[in-house]
Amino acid sequence: MSTMSDHLATDALKTYPCSECDSTFASRYSAKVHMRRHTGERPYPCGICDKSFSQMAIQINHRRTHTGERPFPCDLCPKAFATESTLSNHRRTHTGERPYSSELCDKSFAVPSTLNNHYWTHKRNTCYRCGVTFCDYKKLKEHRLSVHPRAVVAADAGDNDNERRTATATTTTEL
Ligand SMILES: [Zn+2]
Ligand SMILES: [Zn+2]
Ligand SMILES: [Zn+2]
Ligand SMILES: [Zn+2]
Ligand SMILES: [Zn+2]
Repeated sequence: MSTMSDHLATDALKTYPCSECDSTFASRYSAKVHMRRHTGERPYPCGICDKSFSQMAIQINHRRTHTGERPFPCDLCPKAFATESTLSNHRRTHTGERPYSSELCDKSFAVPSTLNNHYWTHKRNTCYRCGVTFCDYKKLKEHRLSVHPRAVVAADAGDNDNERRTATATTTTEL
């Protein structure tokens, strides 16, 4: 019974349903903003170029790329930034804060894009034998030498592409 009333309570909070999909919203405004996804309406034109935007916040951020306006100054150095998120990314270079940590190793990063690049490094340095990833090619090599010493002889002959082809060949014969 309690689950039933809980359910009703949460539903009562969201009273603005979307007529195009199942979503409901707490305010008429958010329902209206959401509707633009269905209609493709973009009521906020840039005014400088011919782009238009569905939300005012996006339009304001975009216009700054034309005006060069940087309303977010860093309090730790003389630099200023166009958006709040670029400012907070920048501030971390002063504070040394690294809130973006790799799920694959114990490294962490100040900016999400650096973490993304780091994941690519992992992807490039995946052991094709056991799927373990390394953020450093040297470590992958060490791993292969110690865990799969037989595979290394064939694999180290060429570049990465050659390596992979050889790997497929050896796997089939060894199985
Ligand atoms: Zn909808
Ligand atoms: Zn523009
Ligand atoms: Zn700064
Ligand atoms: Zn990592
Ligand atoms: Zn391995």
